[in-house]
Amino acid sequence: LGTDKEGTVYIKDGEKFPYQDSSKTVEFRVNDLLSRMTLEEKIGQMTQAERGAVNGKKYDLADLSLGSLLSGGGSAPTTGNNPEDWANMVDDFQNYALLSRLSIPMLYGVDGVHGHHNVYGTTIFPHNIGLGATRNPVLAKQIGEVTAAEIYATGIRWDFSPCVCVGRDERWGRTYESFGEDPEIASMMTPIIDGYQGASLNNKNSVMATAKHYVGDGGTTYTGGKIDQGNTEMDEATLRKIHLPPFIEAIKRNVGSIMPSYSSFNGLKMHANKHLLTDVLKTELGFKGFLISDWAAIDQIPGDYNSDITTSINAGLDMIMVPDKYQTFYEGAIAEVKAGHIQMSRIDDAVKRILTKKFELGLFEKPFSDRSEIAQIGSAAHRAVARQAVQESLVLLKNQDSTLPLKKTGKLLVAGNHANNIGLQSGGWTISWQGSAGAITKGTTILEGIKAANAGAEYVAAPTAADVTGKGYEAAIVVVGEQPYAEGAGDNGTLTLSANDQNTINNVCSNVKCVVVLVSGRPMIINDELSKASAFVAAWLPGSEGAGVADVLFGDKDFKGKLPVSWPRSVAQLPLNVGDATYDPLFAYGFGLNYAK
Ligand code: BGC
Repeated sequence: LGTDKEGTVYIKDGEKFPYQDSSKTVEFRVNDLLSRMTLEEKIGQMTQAERGAVNGKKYDLADLSLGSLLSGGGSAPTTGNNPEDWANMVDDFQNYALLSRLSIPMLYGVDGVHGHHNVYGTTIFPHNIGLGATRNPVLAKQIGEVTAAEIYATGIRWDFSPCVCVGRDERWGRTYESFGEDPEIASMMTPIIDGYQGASLNNKNSVMATAKHYVGDGGTTYTGGKIDQGNTEMDEATLRKIHLPPFIEAIKRNVGSIMPSYSSFNGLKMHANKHLLTDVLKTELGFKGFLISDWAAIDQIPGDYNSDITTSINAGLDMIMVPDKYQTFYEGAIAEVKAGHIQMSRIDDAVKRILTKKFELGLFEKPFSDRSEIAQIGSAAHRAVARQAVQESLVLLKNQDSTLPLKKTGKLLVAGNHANNIGLQSGGWTISWQGSAGAITKGTTILEGIKAANAGAEYVAAPTAADVTGKGYEAAIVVVGEQPYAEGAGDNGTLTLSANDQNTINNVCSNVKCVVVLVSGRPMIINDELSKASAFVAAWLPGSEGAGVADVLFGDKDFKGKLPVSWPRSVAQLPLNVGDATYDPLFAYGFGLNYAK
């Protein structure tokens, strides 16, 4: 190290700054690096931009020392959506970040909420509500490991998952992102964090996890047809009892980051809630990682943008998902510090937390993707874990006259729009943010699984009554359910099946012994459908391994799933949760039949 005439520290070719010495402790390295940073570089580290906003301006990564990028809603590389495209994109951005004065690597973040689902050909798991039905924490950890390995293989080291939300009202469009309505079940599944993060963050195939959305996102009040991003109205003791426990578990598991919720707590936006973000989370619960805002969430704080910046950082946010107007945020935050509205000690605390995770991840030593890992994406071993998860997630609600298990021989009718559709069985957050119907990624449809079990299966998507009676079927499987959605787009005040689905059930189940398989992110109002069906299975959103459904329907595996939520008779009952003073569900929390009984 030397000093030039102006007093600027420089390093000679081939030499390193002390913080670049991996034999030093993380604490030493963080303090050394921090001591060399300007205010501008510190604010840069606190900035997370959307990758699309930086495209065409990649030198901003170096000039502003941007701390992080994300693919919001899964936005794919401009070159294509294969794993190689992702690894190339991330490495390319990293090259620019490393050109920054202090050569600080950026940290790339992505939503991998049921596998690395933005990328074509990855292994897609059941959404969290299905995992909650398994009540299998060992499996949760394995799913975390597989997901992390597939994310790591694309050069990404940060996953905005798991949602440890406690979903209390099925009208919420994010119900399927919740493991269940009870804090116990959400806490029980937090070993998924151990799977993501591995024994050490800098291990091969480890990514940093994010517990979200802190806190009370699943407890907002349904009003005027909306519930997502709403207001959680309860006293703090109730909030702590119902919504805080899974975050306490996540902190015990050393979760690297936590994302506050868009929602408000008794009218105050969570992103502005210093008491809950700083006093409770960081001070009382000892959270050592960093707080990443939700997408443009600080914009929702009342006041102009500069005051949003100040309020949120002073409340305890460490990194802001800007996501597009990163220049405005960067300049605004610098100005707010210079004006004395944000203390330097708060900035230093935020940057220390961020840098600590970057060092722990080994990003300074291994900033680029490891191409040798790409081959494991979507491997048979990974898909086997997802198939097991599907098997264990299915909940048997009705099985009159032992209709199930079905025989593997004989003429079997398969009907319904959801029978042969990877997109529909995967739901939202699959390839695109909202998800979509069709053969959007690799995998096995429910129909393909059924046909592999019984070669006599015939598929007619929407049979008429005559189609059913005229053909001599011994039994039928009808696969129906919800169209894909994510977040507020999925808020739904009726929870009824479509007229098409109801017709299909009518035509089939009035004429032959039938099994209804419901593909949905939540319970629906099914009183009529249930009475018509001989057997009824809640399959949730199983993901890419539809064969797991057939494994159970044909008796190769028994049903294991138990309801992670209370199943309502009508929407008028909502919110309906176990422990309510009046509790009269159609099926109680924990219900689930099996063959053994
Ligand atoms: C969601 C978060 C997600 C973020 C980034 C937001 O709309 O609320 O759960 O992590 O987008 O994609």
